[in-house]
Amino acid sequence: MSSLIELKNITKIYRVGDENTAALKGIDLTIEKGEFTAIMGPSGSGKSTLMHILGLLDKPSSGQYLLEGVDVSRLSAGRQAAIRNQKIGFVFQQFNLLARTTVLDNVLLPTIYGKAEKSISRARQIIEEVGLSDRIRHKSNQLSGGQIQRVAIARALIMEPSLILADEPTGNLDTRKSEEIMQLFRDINARGVTIILITHEESVAKNADRIIRLIDGEIVSQEENAA
Ligand code: ADP
Ligand code: MG
Repeated sequence: MSSLIELKNITKIYRVGDENTAALKGIDLTIEKGEFTAIMGPSGSGKSTLMHILGLLDKPSSGQYLLEGVDVSRLSAGRQAAIRNQKIGFVFQQFNLLARTTVLDNVLLPTIYGKAEKSISRARQIIEEVGLSDRIRHKSNQLSGGQIQRVAIARALIMEPSLILADEPTGNLDTRKSEEIMQLFRDINARGVTIILITHEESVAKNADRIIRLIDGEIVSQEENAA
């Protein structure tokens, strides 16, 4: 059986004016179905670039990306969008919630037939799982930071993805809130969803099965976490 993800010699070069920045310099990485992986590294080391490529939000400059054995880096933008919608859930700062929009409607956003009974009952169930049933009619500007991250996680789950990508999901939270969010990720992972998460904090990374460290566009270490 093939791995969920195989990256082979992935590079990403950004060109701004006459300047070239090699953000990724030949990444080889395999991630199995059901794994929980943390990516760490200093600012500018290429973490977000790697996540964008994994999420099919950006194309590598060279190299191969196999997702469930299929080379997805060469598919059309339309096919990539379809795969993204079906298989990948995002908890990214830049996909913030719609303000002045309810928790329920934010969670329904990725669904194509958002108002169908089936979608609504599924959304209610997920909102309950993330502990926000009592806030379902609240608008996102009426929620705390931790609650906002819970809504973002619920929205990432609505399409029942096999992979969740999270970029600094605990970045703006205090220790207790951050531990609650990590418990939620562990519960989701325990149901078989693969998780890849970027963090600056060792205490957050400890929740993962494996920690991958990036420096200057290269993987410098991969450690299994002791259970
Ligand atoms: P990290 O998430 O680890 O902080 P990034 O992946 O955001 O790092 O950035 C890696 C490098 O690529 C940095 O040097 C950054 O300045 C550069 N970079 C990121 N995105 C772009 C872009 N859209 N255009 C040009 N350069 C970029
Ligand atoms: Mg980043």
